[in-house]
Amino acid sequence: MSKRKKGRDLGTEEMKYTEKKKMITSSSSRWGLISYDELPEYMKDNEYILRYYRANWPLKEALFSIFRWHNETLNIWTHLIGFFVFLVLTVLNLEQVPKVADLLSNFTRSFSVNAIVDASHNHSNFFSGTDALFDMEKTMSSEISATVSTPATRWPFFVFLAGAMFCLMSSSICHLFGCHSHKLNIFLLRVDYSGIAIMIIASFFPPIYYIFQCNPIWQFIYLTGITTMGIFTIFTLFSPAMSTGKFRAYRAMLFCAMGLSGIVPAIHAIIVNWSEPRRTITLVYELAMALSYLTGTMFYVSRVPEKWKPGFFDLAGHSHQIFHVFVIAGALAHYGAALIFLEWRDRVGCDKLV
Ligand SMILES: [Zn+2]
Repeated sequence: MSKRKKGRDLGTEEMKYTEKKKMITSSSSRWGLISYDELPEYMKDNEYILRYYRANWPLKEALFSIFRWHNETLNIWTHLIGFFVFLVLTVLNLEQVPKVADLLSNFTRSFSVNAIVDASHNHSNFFSGTDALFDMEKTMSSEISATVSTPATRWPFFVFLAGAMFCLMSSSICHLFGCHSHKLNIFLLRVDYSGIAIMIIASFFPPIYYIFQCNPIWQFIYLTGITTMGIFTIFTLFSPAMSTGKFRAYRAMLFCAMGLSGIVPAIHAIIVNWSEPRRTITLVYELAMALSYLTGTMFYVSRVPEKWKPGFFDLAGHSHQIFHVFVIAGALAHYGAALIFLEWRDRVGCDKLV
């Protein structure tokens, strides 16, 4: 390239930049909202959302924009509210973790009963809050001869709650601060995608752990399988090209593949626990979860409804907000199922079932 041509190109580049800068700063306030055409290239993700963008805002301005109306406000708040919902659920469940003294007294009582009669009966309920979930509880406990005296391990349940909270919080932070700079935008997007992968991995823990509690080999195979798949997904998502809009469908496909891999242990669990009456309730919950996630993903990929009416859903009602709501709905449905698995394991040991 000749020196003169190079100089001319640089000149045009510079003109373009100052023109753009002028357009950005010409807004009514200092940190005003701009249109899609005025966006720096790295922020051009959805051409159907035309206005109310923030771009290259300082961290402080970005932080306080949580209380301002722009096209990310509802994206931030939907997952922030979701985060607090799961935080409350975690605190409530932590409060219900039985005290050591309760555990001991329950154990000794149960032990003495076992010594006198052949079949054991345990009517203690550590998760009294779940009573409302199933009325058949009392009748079923008489059918189950193999009951346990100690409550089920709690950590897999809390792994799921922690995974959900991490995903929702990282998403909120990503939407809040993604407008700061190109570097931070890319980093936060990767954390956000990793959050989704972590939530999917964490979601597998309660069902797999409790269903296959009495079959440690399958428990190990399934949990190692999904964790390996999740780690691979996170590494793939951290490659620079993957954060771009071009790979939106590919990213969605990776997450769907992770979620759908749950079909294998699900079929296994259904076969093994065919006679378990609560199978239907947990299946309904898990199907509701799968349906929520899949519907959400369809909105995420298709960019409906803003695609049909560009500019109309800039502030409220665009695909990403709908996707967020479906993610929370799916996570709550899974929470319902996890609670039943946990409660079941509080009552049923490994002597008979599985
Ligand atoms: Zn999001």
